[in-house]
Amino acid sequence: MNTVSSSDQARVQELRQLLQKASYAYYGLDAPLMEDAVYDQLYHELVDLETQYPQMITPDSPTQRVGERPATQFVSVQHRIPLYSLENAFDRGDMDTWDERWHKLVPNLNKEPGYVTELKIDGSALALTYENGLLVRGTTRGDGTKGEEITQNVRTIRSIPLRLNIEHPPEWLEVRGEAFLGLQVFDQINRDRIQAGEAEFANPRNAAAGTLRQLDSKVVAERKLDFFAYTIHISGPTDDLALPQTQWQALETLKQLGFRVNPNRRQCGSLAEVQTYYDDWSLKRLDLPYLTDGVVIKLDDLGVQDELGFTQKFPRWAIAWKYPPEEAATRIEQITVNVGRTGALTPVAEFKPVQLAGTTVSRATLHNRDRISELDIHIGDTVVVRKAGEIIPEVLRVLPELRPAGAQPYQMPTVCPSCGQPAVQLESEAVTRCVNASCPAILRGSLIHWVSRGALDIDGLGEKIVGQLADSQMVQSVADLYELTEDQLMALERMGTKLARKIVGAIATSKQQPWHRVLYGLGIRHVGSVNAQLLTENYPTVDALMAVDGDAIATIHGIGPEIAQSVYEWFQTPTNQTLIQRLQAAGLQFTSTTAELTRPQTLSGQTFVITGTLPTLKRDQAKQLIQDAGGKVTGSVSKNTSYVVVGADAGSKLTKAQSLGIKQLSEADLLELLESA
Ligand code: NAD
Repeated sequence: MNTVSSSDQARVQELRQLLQKASYAYYGLDAPLMEDAVYDQLYHELVDLETQYPQMITPDSPTQRVGERPATQFVSVQHRIPLYSLENAFDRGDMDTWDERWHKLVPNLNKEPGYVTELKIDGSALALTYENGLLVRGTTRGDGTKGEEITQNVRTIRSIPLRLNIEHPPEWLEVRGEAFLGLQVFDQINRDRIQAGEAEFANPRNAAAGTLRQLDSKVVAERKLDFFAYTIHISGPTDDLALPQTQWQALETLKQLGFRVNPNRRQCGSLAEVQTYYDDWSLKRLDLPYLTDGVVIKLDDLGVQDELGFTQKFPRWAIAWKYPPEEAATRIEQITVNVGRTGALTPVAEFKPVQLAGTTVSRATLHNRDRISELDIHIGDTVVVRKAGEIIPEVLRVLPELRPAGAQPYQMPTVCPSCGQPAVQLESEAVTRCVNASCPAILRGSLIHWVSRGALDIDGLGEKIVGQLADSQMVQSVADLYELTEDQLMALERMGTKLARKIVGAIATSKQQPWHRVLYGLGIRHVGSVNAQLLTENYPTVDALMAVDGDAIATIHGIGPEIAQSVYEWFQTPTNQTLIQRLQAAGLQFTSTTAELTRPQTLSGQTFVITGTLPTLKRDQAKQLIQDAGGKVTGSVSKNTSYVVVGADAGSKLTKAQSLGIKQLSEADLLELLESA
């Protein structure tokens, strides 16, 4: 037996306390303390520790119990047959392990029992007892052996028959299934609760569980719970009811008796087929009017199910294969600070890598000082991180319960981590900035921006070479790029003649890039590629732009006073004026040609939907750009949508687009599409 280290011992205690608290809040109060995925992850950490140290397992550990002790307001009843939970699988590997395990336990099979796949409905389990065809009792799962009697409430659910749909019912029959709330009903309940000044339900599952345990059945009736049946126990066959031999037949029997059975089920002959079902539903489930968080796989042959039986907590013949969570808990290892081309210091949380929405994530931006104090981040904190769909990962919140003793709150640095000069924090701004014009990080950032695809698009000059050029001081401004020779480049580490020639050629070619790209490349605050277009359309030469003040610039439709002031100030700064002169001398474009001023209608016939917050463009601006190029912008996704343009916090439109297989564009992709046109 492994000897338990004191840190593991402490962690086990810590996890148990937290999971117990969470479990009570979840099952007892229907008000979860944390996201389900986070609970699952911490739970599995505890399972792993208990597997490593079996001597630490205690009967009251959350890993040994199903659910919570029932709350006291209802009568507690003993289940005739316990209601178990389901073991979870998170990937195909877990599925294979489960498959091998049960196969070993029934070595003398005549034939494979087959599998039935069902959607895992995210609701609350119910057991319904029928005596001589009449519904006599409805109970919650409770702790698996004892549940709460909620018959009055169950009777309000329209999809639960009060009388079975057969002439000769058995003496006793029990049906199990999931009571749930449709997403629309759930949203309505929460809207009503907000209006009534009550706390919202965290998710439909808690809302369903909370509703079932309402003392007033009238409230339950108003909430329109629904029910899918999935298990049946029968005292014996009757004239018109045969005993099912398979799970598939059991589901058919349930239908025959008048229950609602989820239609999206499949019989599978192999795990490969199970996987196909799982994959099929990973997107399709998002269009369902209720929540599913995975797929339940059961062995079809009920005889084999009987032979396999149960562990203390789960049936051995079934497993829930969950879809990848979009949230996870992880521990912050350190916070690094990035210095961007505008001098903004951006704190970045570096954490223990976690799987999120199917990818491994190890860092997420913490944005700025305000966000850090809002989150109250301490070094060593366990945080909940989220990544939904294509969206960049973010730190949602801290779990203060898991904060190590003596942890210190994180403070933004007071000096620039790149040049060591004092960093400035203006009262009016959340951003901390380095204002040293010769800070190497700022120079590097401006060079990277200058050579980027949306700007001067200089091929061959990647971040690494740009870094070398800046660090060696060979290049101290973007204008220096145009004086670089092949020989100078050859002095850089791992530079060959061919690459050096290619880079010098690409730099020369970039002189042909149009005026709006040059303006964008200068990296003036608030001037993204769209604003650069707007500015150059109104001021076709740099001289014209330099000759006007902020008020004049602000008259351009789409350019606000803040942007206008930033442009004006930039061009008033003597060092910037020198830079323009040098770039003009090098042969870059500072005048729009007539062709650039009339845009070709290259997007005609294409329909776009914009969802979420785009990084630089306002929605109206993006819409204008698309329309200027002949495209159409609509508000909802359909199969006629050509593209969806996706920004941060995109919602159901993105989900819908994914399920319809519609091509997604980021803001950068959109700009590229417009520009390539
Ligand atoms: P579970 O939800 O993982 O799976 C078992 C349940 O699935 C069954 O009891 C049944 O109600 C349901 N189910 C849905 N469709 C089914 C189908 N077709 N066939 C069979 N069963 C089906 O397990 P659980 O024990 O109900 O709950 C554990 C889960 O509760 C954890 O995964 C966790 O996420 C959550 N939880 C969260 C917190 C929190 O703080 N957020 C606390 C405790 C538990």
